[in-house]
Amino acid sequence: MINPFSKLGISDDVVNAVKDLGFENPTPIQEQSIPVLLEGNNDFVGLAQTGTGKTAAFGLPLLELIDFKSNKPQALILCPTRELCLQITSDIKNFSKNISGANVVAVYGGANIMQQLREIRNGVQIVVATPGRMLDIIGRKAIDFTNVKYVVLDEADEMLNMGFQEDINDILSTTPDDKKTWLFSATMPPEVRRIAKNYMDSPVELTMGTKNTGNVNIEHEYYIVRARDKYAALKRIVDFNPEIFAVVFCKTKLDTQDVAEHLIKDGYNADALHGDLSQQQRDKVMQRFRERNMQLLIATDVAARGIDVNNVTHVINYSLPDEIESYTHRSGRTGRAGKTGISICIVNSKEIGKIRQIERIIGKQFTKAELPTGFDVCEKQLFSLVHKVHNVEVNESQIEQYMPRIMAEFEELSKDEVIKRFASLEFNRFLEYYKNAPDLNSSADDRGERGERGERGARSSEGYTRLFINVGSVDDFTRGDLLSFVCNNGKISGKSIGKIDLKGVYSFFEVENATVESLFNNFKGVEFNNRGVRIEKTADGEGGGGAGRSRGGFGGGGRREGGSYGGGRREGGERKSYGGGGKREGGNSGGGFRDFSGRSREDRGGNAGGGRREGGSSGSDRRRRS
Ligand code: AMP
Repeated sequence: MINPFSKLGISDDVVNAVKDLGFENPTPIQEQSIPVLLEGNNDFVGLAQTGTGKTAAFGLPLLELIDFKSNKPQALILCPTRELCLQITSDIKNFSKNISGANVVAVYGGANIMQQLREIRNGVQIVVATPGRMLDIIGRKAIDFTNVKYVVLDEADEMLNMGFQEDINDILSTTPDDKKTWLFSATMPPEVRRIAKNYMDSPVELTMGTKNTGNVNIEHEYYIVRARDKYAALKRIVDFNPEIFAVVFCKTKLDTQDVAEHLIKDGYNADALHGDLSQQQRDKVMQRFRERNMQLLIATDVAARGIDVNNVTHVINYSLPDEIESYTHRSGRTGRAGKTGISICIVNSKEIGKIRQIERIIGKQFTKAELPTGFDVCEKQLFSLVHKVHNVEVNESQIEQYMPRIMAEFEELSKDEVIKRFASLEFNRFLEYYKNAPDLNSSADDRGERGERGERGARSSEGYTRLFINVGSVDDFTRGDLLSFVCNNGKISGKSIGKIDLKGVYSFFEVENATVESLFNNFKGVEFNNRGVRIEKTADGEGGGGAGRSRGGFGGGGRREGGSYGGGRREGGERKSYGGGGKREGGNSGGGFRDFSGRSREDRGGNAGGGRREGGSSGSDRRRRS
């Protein structure tokens, strides 16, 4: 069978190298752009998101077009940050590892210039550079660009955002007029358009996905909280996602440092990345994150540009970016290389307008999400622990010697008792910590704002029935998953579904009154993971107004009354309220939150690496069922 990259015109040496990297099939951007760029006689504009395989899209054709017998610079790749520069250089070195005589140099600020000059003197064909350092080297007359045939402007919008316009002009003026320019950008603001106009001759334009559209693999959510509850909200989101591996964006270096310090103090495995750190410190932080020895990277926009770490499960916008366009770059840190991801914004009610602006730019709607209650978090953590215990790899030979003593210790206890005690070991901490947890959600509905999924508010909406379903986030469902699950099995359109309230072992969703009956019928006999799926009307269920949020206490309120349907009672019986009968309103604010019942940093992994992520699994393992 012919390798799909060979079919695109890539030679065997390079195909073998990308095969070694695990690339089996070209990504859509590679499929579209490689044949065009291989012709070598066009200027090119590629509108593409980060994480789509852009580097290989231009890197592979370059390797075919360059004459590696000559040791003169023939391709110049300009990019906005040092991190991206190193990433591109390393990618191209990997792609070209079987080409003898191939030399690539990375030219970027904050590193020893002498070493870079030496590499250039020794002869290179491909120069990957950030604009500032490149100009410095040109100024020293240490490089000759008269043989440059291709210039790639990667993340052009970012370079312009960072004020590199002048530098780019100066650099390009040292390259031959007949070179070909390939420009890649996630967005196409007028300034980038202008570059295309000024420097290019009838460029071939390819748009990967819709213009300015964010990656389709990313779900976008926002939470409305009071400004003072932002930090508590962040912690709750993290606690509700035990396997989270996230980049948290703040607007300023100060905020970044502050949030990171608080998280570290509270026992989370986090660290800050911003411009006030030395290059060495930044490298160290990035290395820990890349190796997944850190769970939460708190970063500024500039510092996080070009971060290419796969399997980031969430991007959290702790503050919204000033430049709306930056949102695309932020969210592009997740959902990379075909994986799925969630981009979350923690906002106050005055910022909803900005969310709407972002929606227009990315061409996608946000889901208004509700922060989980303390109970939800406890439930999620409990089942995460249960799954871990269930799936742990037992080292039979090592544990064997202790088994007689362990069995003797538990002799008096039944199997049920032993299980209960193991589970309680961790669960008690969360219960203790969250027992008086307040509701952190601040309502935008009171201000006439749009609710979740369109114009509908957070309460039971007019014409909709609120239903309970016995699946939730512990089954690895996201809201999107639940929506598809209900639509596919209930045979109804997504348009009939209203607000979705994803909980731990169960969830709520609204459905148009007219479709309730058929939904119930279609769900007869539906199973998930060998479990009968049950749908029930909630007490506040039918059509409009409702009894407010049923997020409140559990167990009470006759939630199960009404048209119950399905496979009998849940295991474990009725859910109980705790810590004050499920009252969530008002009360103590985020300030009342302390670390998990005094869990010390060491308890939770702290900064010793590994942290809270046992088993090294991540959101990438999340099963999808759309
Ligand atoms: P990029 O957009 O170039 O930063 O690429 C994003 C990620 O996708 C990188 O980790 C690449 O190694 C990976 N990648 C690029 N092309 C492919 C491919 N054809 N198959 C699998 N992974 C790829």
